[in-house]
Amino acid sequence: MKWILLLSIQLLTLQSCMSQTTEQKQKKMDTEKKDNNPVYSRTDTAKVVLKEEDWKKILSPEVFYIARQKGTERPGTSKFEHSKEVGTYYCAVCGNALFKSDTKFDSGCGWPSFYEPISKGSIIYLPDNTLGMQRTEVQCGRCKSHLGHVFEDGPPPTGLRYCINGVVLDFEKAKEAEKKYKAGS
Ligand SMILES: [Zn+2]
Repeated sequence: MKWILLLSIQLLTLQSCMSQTTEQKQKKMDTEKKDNNPVYSRTDTAKVVLKEEDWKKILSPEVFYIARQKGTERPGTSKFEHSKEVGTYYCAVCGNALFKSDTKFDSGCGWPSFYEPISKGSIIYLPDNTLGMQRTEVQCGRCKSHLGHVFEDGPPPTGLRYCINGVVLDFEKAKEAEKKYKAGS
């Protein structure tokens, strides 16, 4: 029953996705700016510990809600869900590398899904028994932001499905893929 409900929510969301205006798209782009976030770095691996009130000051309300209040974005709303671009996904809160695009797959669950993190230390696992379910929460290994959950129904070789909120992901196209793309155009 829960799945049927989820599916109908997904369909509804898909419909509203298609009528997305340019203005909304622009708004999404703006959330990628890191001007106000001093802890964001793709090279610094030192752990980041901030008080929630400080996170609130440097994160957009949307990112704060998912990352720090363990929120969940509406299924089917992430621009990354069906993206096939080659590159690396980073934590949108701190810049920590999380997933490579070649471990991404179409799970059909409504959120960007991966079968393996970029490295062992890139992610932290915690038991989550909320909402009457036994799940495993995944957090960023650098800043302990909530990313999503991992389930044991993924594809080989790991059999895992990392179901991640696209709001807390940043994507950078692989340099080589970019070169190829430019050469081909
Ligand atoms: Zn992080």
